[in-house]
Amino acid sequence: MKNKKTVSFSKNSTNIFFHILTNCNLTCRHCYINKEQHGKNTLSLKTINSWLGAFAGKKDSANVVFLGGEPTLHPDLFLAVKHARKKGFKSITIDTNGYLFNAILSKIGPEEVDYVSFSLDGATITTNDMIRGRGSYNKCISGIREAVSKGFNTSLIYTVSSANIDELAMMAPLLGKLGINRFFIQVIGIRGKTAKSRPFKQEIENPQVSRKKWLDTIPEIAEKIAELGITVTYPKVYLDTDEKFECAGLVADNYFIFPNGRVYRCPLCEDYPLNCMEFNGSRLVNTKKINEIDLFGLSIPEGCVMNRLIQPGNLKYNKDGTSGYKIACCLLKEEISAGR
Ligand code: SF4
Ligand code: SF4
Repeated sequence: MKNKKTVSFSKNSTNIFFHILTNCNLTCRHCYINKEQHGKNTLSLKTINSWLGAFAGKKDSANVVFLGGEPTLHPDLFLAVKHARKKGFKSITIDTNGYLFNAILSKIGPEEVDYVSFSLDGATITTNDMIRGRGSYNKCISGIREAVSKGFNTSLIYTVSSANIDELAMMAPLLGKLGINRFFIQVIGIRGKTAKSRPFKQEIENPQVSRKKWLDTIPEIAEKIAELGITVTYPKVYLDTDEKFECAGLVADNYFIFPNGRVYRCPLCEDYPLNCMEFNGSRLVNTKKINEIDLFGLSIPEGCVMNRLIQPGNLKYNKDGTSGYKIACCLLKEEISAGR
């Protein structure tokens, strides 16, 4: 039996997406890291630990995700993980492209990290390496094998675009064979590199898939993968006009932290200096108006206001000018888990 649910937003659950550096060994075509806006520095272990300290009051309900750039390039990542575990954060995840630098999985144990999360953007070497760079497919697969053989829980993130949606179904046997516990389907956003240029080959005009293709493809494949006992999460993306819209910036407790000290509530704001918080030393303080918070409260028939501002091509209008559907918050997810 499978359980399907929309993961509702809650102020009682905190998610800390902690970019400890922006450097990366890869140059993925759809990378959203924007060094001009996010900083080029690598945070010291002392700073990482002190910024985590700003969330000590909510540690019991706080999920920490270490990411980058490529976080395993940080020589002290293992110490940051151990520190977060010792401080009692609810869960700890490392997001990696699979290269697993600095022998990270030999310096921490499966009991110190809840998930090691890998990224693959194609079921074949050809497609994945076209998007993420030559050699990245094999490296990611060998990284997953190492993690699974050492007893770590693993997840895999697949960012869907017009370049790889037709290979999504082929992921099912691969995920089963590798022993992946959780599968996250993401949707390519017009952020970072994708916002500046066409990320893929000339013949792939638009990296985003149409609403019809998304709805015809994603839920069905997610169900099939969940049948293998893998928990599958995918963004809802579209809401009917009568469905309830909520902005996570108002009703959830998410923090997207960057090495230049900027802290955002909304990932779609990350290409702009709209962060509503920042670190001042070890203190997390609010920034002055105008910032992202001033956008979250704007109620528009199209749903997500940031989508309306930066991805208006995603919207469709009826002949009478009314909105054809709403775009959901990019953080609203559907989850299918295998019930026991
Ligand atoms: S691995 Fe991540 S951070 Fe590195 S280039 Fe790819 S998307 Fe960007
Ligand atoms: S993606 Fe849209 S709905 Fe979600 S937090 Fe940002 S502005 Fe709000």
